Amino acid sequence: MADTTSRIIIIGSSAAGLSAAQEARKTSPEATITLISEEPHLPYHRPSLTEYIGDESVERRPQFLLQPAGWFAAQRIDLRRGIRAAGIDRQSRQVLLVSGELLPFDRLVLAVGAQPFVPMADALSRENVFAVRTLDDARRVAQCADRSHTAVIIGGGLLGLEAANALLKKKLTVTVVEMADRALPMQLDPEGSRFFERIVAASGVRLRLGVQTERIAGDTRATAVVFRSSEELPADMIIFSIGVRARVDLARSAGLTVNKGVVVNERMETSASDIYAAGDCAEFGRGVQLWMPAVRQGSVAGRNAAGGDAVFVAEDAPVVLKVFGTQLYSVGDIGRDPQVRYDTFRRMDEAAGTYQVVYGRDGRLVGGVLIGDIRRAGAISKGIPQGLAFTEAERLLAG
Ligand SMILES: Cc1cc2nc3c(=O)[nH]c(=O)nc-3n(C[C@H](O)[C@H](O)[C@H](O)COP(=O)(O)OP(=O)(O)OC[C@H]3O[C@@H](n4cnc5c(N)ncnc54)[C@H](O)[C@@H]3O)c2cc1C
Repeated sequence: MADTTSRIIIIGSSAAGLSAAQEARKTSPEATITLISEEPHLPYHRPSLTEYIGDESVERRPQFLLQPAGWFAAQRIDLRRGIRAAGIDRQSRQVLLVSGELLPFDRLVLAVGAQPFVPMADALSRENVFAVRTLDDARRVAQCADRSHTAVIIGGGLLGLEAANALLKKKLTVTVVEMADRALPMQLDPEGSRFFERIVAASGVRLRLGVQTERIAGDTRATAVVFRSSEELPADMIIFSIGVRARVDLARSAGLTVNKGVVVNERMETSASDIYAAGDCAEFGRGVQLWMPAVRQGSVAGRNAAGGDAVFVAEDAPVVLKVFGTQLYSVGDIGRDPQVRYDTFRRMDEAAGTYQVVYGRDGRLVGGVLIGDIRRAGAISKGIPQGLAFTEAERLLAG
């Protein structure tokens, strides 16, 4: 039975926070729902920010805003924008805002997300060094790109490569610096990496593999990235893209159990039963910091906070990357365990720019990679949970 009288506060109004509010309202028509966001904007689609760097018109697309301004009032959700929650008093069940205002709650949802990891503490103080997390960050990067000729992106993961692709659109000369010795080692098998590296090279982006960044040269303005080898790579602008860390400060100071993220169970309950956490700030199992899991976790937290009953079931989500005029899809286990003898079926056509591989284990399909033509992605994604016989793999790729 839904609890019809509760005051629900949700801190953070992005993927997890907004879906928590939405689901809480569906579950309890009577609850008082307050959504607190330190960002001044209406909730927006954060994954579009990389594209925004290369094309600011992204902001005007109808799908960029997650809900129109009028939706919040219609749903009786009090969206408080541009204000940060500074603390949680668990004893008196109140949230303290930076303004000094205290907001009482019966149930609290933490949906405060993550922040970019930048290992050099002072790096971001330079006017031309960035990490992209918010719309305001993306605006600053886009403006700097308009005045720049060369960019270095530190980190060759999915977001780093997307940023490189966006800066190419602005005609910058782009170098991506990656510590690993091959492209996208988490998403590609070694042959796939080499195939993809040739596509990156053909796009004009320089991918420097196996290099470690030591420091940034320049004081108020960065002039170069300096590698451990002492080599200096000059740059008009630098973007860090080496991962994120869950925002755990509020939870930690409220005495909640925190590991890498705020520890939650499958109901998204933290160590305090009246406080939930969801999305990038939460830690459930292995954890992925991606948009759709954050939306689904937010729904679970919102429903439970409103007196409903829901559990989160993790799914192995495929990765899709669209950059440098190609598309890349990767799912499942692509030969990661060195103790296992995998079956593989691979074919590639360099001229057509297509690469396909599927991996099998104990006679069953367990993973795959497609580059160029990803039309068989759905069939692979379906085949893995169904335990499709690996002998069917060739037929699967043929379509
Ligand atoms: C540039 C970029 C590209 C991405 N591309 C993809 C992609 O292609 N696919 C994909 O699946 N994922 C992508 N992601 C990751 C995805 O955006 C995140 O997994 C998702 O946004 C997590 O949602 P969340 O609601 O948990 O946290 P967030 O989206 O980080 O939202 C948390 C919100 O809480 C606010 N907040 C934090 N602390 C407080 C406080 N104390 N008081 C008030 N407000 C607070 C923050 O300012 C923020 O607005 C991308 C992320 C970035 C930055």
